Amino acid sequence: MKRFVVAFGLTGIICLLIGVIWFIYGKITVKLNGSDMVTSTVYHEYQDLGVSVYRNDFLLNKDKYELTIDSNINKDVLGTYNETYHINYHGRIFKIGRTIKVIDDVIPEINTNVSKVVRDYCTKKDKDKIEYSVIDNYDGDITTNASMEEVDDNYVIKAVDSSNNESELKIPIELTEKPKDIFKLKDSSSIYVVKGSKYKDSGYTYTDGCGNKIDEDIKLEGNVDTSKNGTYKVSYTNSKGDKLVRTVTVYTPSVNNGGSNKNKVIYLTFDDGPGSYTSKVLNTLAKYNVKATFFVTHQFGGYVNLIKKEYEAGHSVGVHSYTHNWNIYKSVDAYLSDFNKMNEDILKYTGNYSKIFRFPGGSSNTVSRSYSKGVVKATASKMASLGYQYFDWDVDSSDAAGASRSRIYSNVVNGVKHCSKCIVLMHDIKANTVNELDNILKTLTSQGYKFGTLNINSPTVHHTIVN
Ligand SMILES: [Zn+2]
Repeated sequence: MKRFVVAFGLTGIICLLIGVIWFIYGKITVKLNGSDMVTSTVYHEYQDLGVSVYRNDFLLNKDKYELTIDSNINKDVLGTYNETYHINYHGRIFKIGRTIKVIDDVIPEINTNVSKVVRDYCTKKDKDKIEYSVIDNYDGDITTNASMEEVDDNYVIKAVDSSNNESELKIPIELTEKPKDIFKLKDSSSIYVVKGSKYKDSGYTYTDGCGNKIDEDIKLEGNVDTSKNGTYKVSYTNSKGDKLVRTVTVYTPSVNNGGSNKNKVIYLTFDDGPGSYTSKVLNTLAKYNVKATFFVTHQFGGYVNLIKKEYEAGHSVGVHSYTHNWNIYKSVDAYLSDFNKMNEDILKYTGNYSKIFRFPGGSSNTVSRSYSKGVVKATASKMASLGYQYFDWDVDSSDAAGASRSRIYSNVVNGVKHCSKCIVLMHDIKANTVNELDNILKTLTSQGYKFGTLNINSPTVHHTIVN
């Protein structure tokens, strides 16, 4: 009995002890928070998720155990790293580990100088040049590894870094607008043909806006009978209904001795402008490709800038007078002062002073007598010493005297048959002259004359100075 009691008592004590120890130390479980393999972006601080420690399946407060972490992680270098958690719970040691991958998951950055590229519709050439660079967060400048190609209506730039992160940038290509088709006559829309000569129409050009010939049947209407004087129409119509019309005038020249006129040069001169008719004069001269000389004034302020047009069209510009008032003949100084003002205008519109001039009224005028005796003679001499050359005329249209259109026509057309230097006096402020100029030029050009412009070295006509 005693042995039994002793045996039972010993077992009871051992059990009790085990119970107490269990109660104090318990069953300890350690679990990783999160996965046993995690990733972390390079250069970013690694955010450790930690562990959870359980005793008898109850979560322990962090102050109930000691935790130390062993880790070889380097956040700045790609790679696989390990960390180990050491838990010390009342001298009982537990370990658990985790793998960490430091990765690059940031795509490269593509930078360009343009947001779109404009391409010429015709040449298919780009007006903008794309420059780009690619910077990767880990690899640095990887521009040379990038590629660019044209896909549909875009340029596509592609870049990939050493961790296979891909970037793509699309730059749209914008075509310029398609230029309009051009359907036009070759040569002038108004042509003059001498009766009996051959006429072949110079036709048309029809191109798309890029200059490529458009091949289609063009309807041609009208024909020119050069055996009969008259006005004929030649027209071309395309499939869109656009119609080009040329007027061809067959005429008999008043005198046709073109052969002997071939070497004769006519110097047409226009005084007193620019004025309201000057543009028309310029158009008519252009129609016949005739160059002339304008002796200009500042009488019509709103038209003075036409000097620029005269000059740019290849005509010669000389000084006539700023005011065109007879009182410039008061004295040589008065004359010069007025002259210089006009020459400043000429400088302004042509870029040069003119070296040539024409006396108002011509060098033979007598009106100046009532202003100052001998003034023209003195002025002519002064001007010569300053290097200027003046021009009178040997063909007078008489337009200043109020001649009719037919009189002006015959004065000029007959006058040039008999002149020696053929400097023709006309005025671009006279309506009759301006309206008759086309006829005059039609005749003179058909007669084979050449036309010249006056300059400091031209043959000159000087009247006799009488004052
Ligand atoms: Zn005048």
